[in-house]
Amino acid sequence: MVVKTKALVLRAMPVGDQDRLLTMLSADLGVISVSARGVARNGNRFAAATQPMMYGEYVLFQGSSRYSLNQGEVIASFFDLALEPERYERAVRLLSMSADAGMVPEAAAEVLELTLHALHRLMPGARVPMDPDLAVGIFELKMLQISGLTPHLTGCVQCGTSAIDQIRFSHRHGGFLCEQCEPDDPTAVPVSAGVAKAMLYTLCAPVPSLFRFELASPLAGSFLDLVSRYAEDRWEKRHAKKKSLYGDTDEPSRESEA
Ligand SMILES: [Zn+2]
Repeated sequence: MVVKTKALVLRAMPVGDQDRLLTMLSADLGVISVSARGVARNGNRFAAATQPMMYGEYVLFQGSSRYSLNQGEVIASFFDLALEPERYERAVRLLSMSADAGMVPEAAAEVLELTLHALHRLMPGARVPMDPDLAVGIFELKMLQISGLTPHLTGCVQCGTSAIDQIRFSHRHGGFLCEQCEPDDPTAVPVSAGVAKAMLYTLCAPVPSLFRFELASPLAGSFLDLVSRYAEDRWEKRHAKKKSLYGDTDEPSRESEA
């Protein structure tokens, strides 16, 4: 069966001298493996469309276990991110999270939309360049929400009050903590009003309006630190849960996959 889909190339692994094995994120097919034969050959017309960080329109043949590439045409290239190591490194981090979150077929369309917006904002030479820490922080928090791992930010996670003067974030309880409940988690970290506002905006705004605010640079860093630590913790717990559901298999760890 032949299918036509728009997709983002998350990974492109060389196979032999001439072929590539692609991991792609498509809105309608989710995360898929695509075998692309001959694309690494000199002058191949699909060479560009089968590089990582390319978004394109693809015609695929659906085999029994995997797709193979018939045609591919670039719609948008994020390859220029490779020109700035700092931004490139962050983009690679985004794509690895997208590969994880896009495995849930119902989430794939939103994961793809979020990833494309984040990559656009990370691109060097944008009209209004965004702090890369802020872009990644927004991406990570929205991805948690899409994946059903939203932290509790509408009030105190313990007692529910929304009257909090000095906000703290409890990684243990997964949300904001008020002054009265502070003793419940002595490791909770203070959150500045600017960072709290940025977090709330990220959860409330639709994806196309997400990357439209600024945060002074030290705040962008602490926003990212907070979100990343929470994300790491929640993803780890989710993977551990999956592992215990399917038995204690010797799956490759996320680090060795990257
Ligand atoms: Zn409370």
